[in-house]
Amino acid sequence: MKLLVAGGAGYIGSVVTRLLVQEGHEVVILDDLSTGHADSVPEGVRLESASIADADRILDGAGFDAVLHFAAKSLVGESVERPSIYWHTNVVGTRLLLDAMARHGVPRLVFSSTAAVYGEPDQVPITEDTPCRPTNTYGATKLAVDMMISGECIATGLGAVSLRYFNVAGAALGAGERHAIETHLIPIALDATSGLRDKLTIHGDDWPTPDGTPIRDYVHVLDLARAHVLALGAAQPGEHLICNLGNGNGFSVREVMTAIEEVTGLPLPATVGPRRAGDPTVLVASADRARSKLGWAPEFDLRRMVADAWAFRGTAPEIGDRR
Ligand code: UDP
Repeated sequence: MKLLVAGGAGYIGSVVTRLLVQEGHEVVILDDLSTGHADSVPEGVRLESASIADADRILDGAGFDAVLHFAAKSLVGESVERPSIYWHTNVVGTRLLLDAMARHGVPRLVFSSTAAVYGEPDQVPITEDTPCRPTNTYGATKLAVDMMISGECIATGLGAVSLRYFNVAGAALGAGERHAIETHLIPIALDATSGLRDKLTIHGDDWPTPDGTPIRDYVHVLDLARAHVLALGAAQPGEHLICNLGNGNGFSVREVMTAIEEVTGLPLPATVGPRRAGDPTVLVASADRARSKLGWAPEFDLRRMVADAWAFRGTAPEIGDRR
């Protein structure tokens, strides 16, 4: 297929791009490089360094078979402090993309949604029928886009798959996490392990969980990427399929820390700080629908995610500047 990957220079987009190329697809990346990296774009892939508002020009007469849409602002804390940027980039940006796709007859969309749409769920594991009650602007904007896509499928016959990611980690195919502003547990903990930071601050250890730290469902970025390839084949005209992507296993912050110490063989200096606003206690996915509708099954465990992220760090040029 001929594919436009919006946000393909970012963490997940760059891994998915590499897998798509490996599978024989023709890929063009659209990325404004606001958080992505031009050198994450693999050889043989054209980079359109432009805003999502330029999708209309790029799709015009080009015969694309599908768009994979990763281009979004995705920091929970920032979304609470600066909601306007999130509504404009994530919602208005996607509206412009959908209009351009309809105008130029692009029949399929795979969209990066998030577990943040569910907020603090009443029960786990979370299925796609769990009520969506986002607790921050990031989750609200992704939910708004999911709703927009549902309407688009009915109105235009678009075939779409939204993939709701839980906690993505690891590296694959020469690409990995290279965020200038890092907020995620595993890369921050690896910084602390290797001395790039003094320590990890645990965001509270008084949560109602067995060891007092919050529990999350970690999924390897290569497993996630494989779900995107499967989603391209599963998209049906006029239908919007929504699937959670997680392993179905929960790990606490302290369990992740133990895995990091075991995998790296190094001590992880840490201190306990206050809870982080907006953090839910437990988020664990039911990925039954992804299994049945996409034929997806995650392969890699938490230790493999840590090992791959640890190995990738040695190759990422800017990690040394992240203090
Ligand atoms: N966390 C932490 N210290 C950090 C970063 C994260 O204790 O420096 C905790 C965070 O409170 C949450 C878990 O690690 O319980 C996973 O957080 P992350 O930001 O990686 O992903 P999220 O679940 O927020 O999307």
